[in-house]
Amino acid sequence: MKNLIIASNNKDKIREIKEILKKYKLNIMSQSEAGVHIEVEEDGKTFMENAYKKAYEIWKLKKDSAVIADDSGLMVDILDGAPGVYSARFAGEHGNSEKNNSKLLKLLEDVPFEKRKAKFVCAIILVVNDKDIIRAQGEVEGYIAEEARGKDGFGYDPLFYVPEYDKTFGEITASEKNTMSHRAIALKKLSEEISKLSWE
Ligand code: IMP
Repeated sequence: MKNLIIASNNKDKIREIKEILKKYKLNIMSQSEAGVHIEVEEDGKTFMENAYKKAYEIWKLKKDSAVIADDSGLMVDILDGAPGVYSARFAGEHGNSEKNNSKLLKLLEDVPFEKRKAKFVCAIILVVNDKDIIRAQGEVEGYIAEEARGKDGFGYDPLFYVPEYDKTFGEITASEKNTMSHRAIALKKLSEEISKLSWE
């Protein structure tokens, strides 16, 4: 059975990816379960560049395995696509969602609702070998709310308002989010491409 390494140790991400790929005969493991302890610097200009770099660096160490990696973030129209690839460290400190969200609200303080358009983007990549490299991208559109709403989710979720649901990502359930999020869309596209591969 082919090993598939997920270039992450994030339990939620790993669960989501395992669920979507469960129909394939793959031995799916996290980066640390595969014994890979490197930290790949995410210094690309696009989500796809970062995802590629993470997957390829790990694949070079484990060439018998396939490697899957993703990179995601928020892009706000009126900020010319910021925070973009800097989403996790928008306010300077990596992963401080409270500070990131405050900074975003402050920057949009005088911006009316209709000009607060934004999208979440997820780029995902699967490196099977030097030739078989599959890329997929998922996006979901919404608006930046004028204040945080909801306690579910993580990161910018409480600020990301989706008109179809009349809720922010912080107010919808995890299972709702998993049917329509940028990550779910990217994974679905990837899964369609994977079905064309021979894993044997
Ligand atoms: P990464 O792809 O896990 O490195 O995510 C980068 C950053 O983008 C996270 O730290 C969050 O700030 C933001 N982000 C990505 N996806 C989501 C999401 O689904 N909800 C909220 N924030 C997200």
